[in-house]
Amino acid sequence: MSLPAHEIRGIIFDLDGTLYVSPDFAAAIQEAAAAYVAGLKGIVPGQAERLMAATRTLLTEETGGVPTLSAVCIRLGGNVRDLHTFFQERLRPEACLDRNEQVIALLEGFAQRFPLYLFTNNNRGLTKRIIDCLGLNGLFRRIYAIDDTWKAKPDEGMLDRILADTGLKPSEALFVGDRYDVDLRLPEQRGCPVYLSQSIEQLLRLEEILGAGNTL
Ligand SMILES: [Mg+2]
Repeated sequence: MSLPAHEIRGIIFDLDGTLYVSPDFAAAIQEAAAAYVAGLKGIVPGQAERLMAATRTLLTEETGGVPTLSAVCIRLGGNVRDLHTFFQERLRPEACLDRNEQVIALLEGFAQRFPLYLFTNNNRGLTKRIIDCLGLNGLFRRIYAIDDTWKAKPDEGMLDRILADTGLKPSEALFVGDRYDVDLRLPEQRGCPVYLSQSIEQLLRLEEILGAGNTL
């Protein structure tokens, strides 16, 4: 994979697992989703967790990629709107997430050079609370959240819309995310540069990669 740093004119970041990594908050999301499925099916949360794990395995076999939480909930008869209403009421990012001054400095530096965008399978309400906790308010020119269309990434329609809105050519739009299948596969197929980041160390490496105009 090479990253043509000199061509990049904008960066589209995923949020959860990319701009922060929090096992506690990831567990809270899974727990809330299990509580939602438990209510839906009239079962206890432990049973819902097992059912979701089995569904995740089934969908992985069917599609060849790891499914999103939205896909698992839909397969079990739920809907993404209700799941996110549940998330908004239940999840407390404020209890799990902290500012990371290095990440803030990285994004502030990038924001002076390119427009930055956020493209997330999270909902707008929680996204705002999360970026507040992370100290990243005001750094994104635009936020694309799941409640824009209620279609989760990967979604070709949203990718088209982002490229059209931003006016970026595919070769100019760098996508950064922690899940290749969800965040990066479609943009890469479209000809966009992509960067897989699954830790803060990997995220911080972007500075030297883009700063020096190097290739990966
Ligand atoms: Mg993510």
